[in-house]
Amino acid sequence: MRLSRYFLPVLKENPAEAQIVSHRYMLRAGMIRQQAAGIYSWLPLGLRVLRRIEQIVHEEQQRAGHIPLLMPTLQPADLWRESGRYDAYGPEMLRLRDRQDRELLYGPTNEEMITDIFRAHVGSYKHLPLTLYHIQWKFRDEMRPRFGVMRGREFLMKDGYNFDVDRDSALHAYNRHMVSYLRTYERMGLTAIPMRAASGPIGGDNTHEFLVLAQTGESEVFFDDRVTALKLGSRAIDYDDRAQVARICEEFTTLYARTDETHDQALFDAEVPAAHRKVARGIEVGQIFYFGTKYSEAMGATVQTADGRSVPVEMGSHGIGVSRLLGAIIEASHDDRGIIWPEGVTPFPVGIVNLKQGDGATDSVCEGLYRALSARGFEPLYDDTEERAGAKFATMDLIGLPWRITVGPKGAARGMVELTSRRSGESEEMTPEAAVTRIAQIYDGV
Ligand code: ATP
Ligand code: MG
Repeated sequence: MRLSRYFLPVLKENPAEAQIVSHRYMLRAGMIRQQAAGIYSWLPLGLRVLRRIEQIVHEEQQRAGHIPLLMPTLQPADLWRESGRYDAYGPEMLRLRDRQDRELLYGPTNEEMITDIFRAHVGSYKHLPLTLYHIQWKFRDEMRPRFGVMRGREFLMKDGYNFDVDRDSALHAYNRHMVSYLRTYERMGLTAIPMRAASGPIGGDNTHEFLVLAQTGESEVFFDDRVTALKLGSRAIDYDDRAQVARICEEFTTLYARTDETHDQALFDAEVPAAHRKVARGIEVGQIFYFGTKYSEAMGATVQTADGRSVPVEMGSHGIGVSRLLGAIIEASHDDRGIIWPEGVTPFPVGIVNLKQGDGATDSVCEGLYRALSARGFEPLYDDTEERAGAKFATMDLIGLPWRITVGPKGAARGMVELTSRRSGESEEMTPEAAVTRIAQIYDGV
């Protein structure tokens, strides 16, 4: 992408309404625009990151054997009357009427609708296990929408629902979700700690929230700090291997880690050596629930078992805050000049800064880099504008591309360019070919 032809409306000034750094940088980097309280347009740069995050979520869900579908944003109220949640949900639910005076709602979540799909099409254990998910916009009329996309009213969520014939299989589905979520967050460069949580309006007794530590987080969290060192890394995972998946969950949930809702100070003191006891704040980027037959009983979703019995199907639901993740990643990865995107989610893998637009040799090195990188699938953002060098660097730093290739007339004359890491600030001089090879190496396996 050539910056001269792109739409990147960066702001020089700090917007007064933004209280936290991620909101400030998302506005300044021209990623989002607020249209109403808690409702945003996604401008091109923001949309690119949102799509990267969605892509990772899709890949990891499908790796775990979960199947995508797409349910609508608007739902009939009658479905929610069946579960009893139409009245129970309260003012967070946006309720509407169509021209025939039929009651609708803008979905805050989809347990009822997915249960309806299931009961219409599946009646036998032979079709289980089944996990269906989608990535769709939700609406919750939050009392205090704030912090940009972190607590929106309209927000993008991945929500998945497992259907199993018995409790053990449903608990395996729960574990599968935990492991696939850990992989998902790790690919985004995040440490998200599974913490024992309380269940709220979804219901159920088995639930974990995934929290990213950040001073601006809305939840208070209590944990053994050794939990932050746990990593999945590149280990091979067989999602059908119940024992392996359960072992990984155990590894990640044995050390004390709880939100304030489930925190038990006496237990914390007894279990965790003082030197490892940490109280901090965190951002909830996902939550998994096992709730058994709560919805299937209320809505008559039954399956035949192998021995011919008819039982309500066992279920759980599992959500990732896709749009909130942008905020969480920025909270976890920035400096005073701007965002520092992890390679996994960056809107462009690399930026090219032309220090002297219009200089024949400089332009031609930049064009060559642009072509070579694009041909290898690493579409760069090429700053081919007439701005002065300082302004170009400031924009690149603000929008946070992890790598920058700088091309100036002196270097170009010697056939050299400079590759700079946004994170470390370190630069290295090399040939344009070497820079392309290095970028390819960096992104290999990301
Ligand atoms: P919270 O406690 O933050 O209000 P929740 O527990 O009600 O969230 P869930 O029903 O668990 O939310 O939804 C799954 C995920 O969707 C959450 O973990 C969070 O990352 C995201 N999410 C929930 N509400 C919002 C919101 N208002 N804006 C952006 N993301 C949200
Ligand atoms: Mg939650």
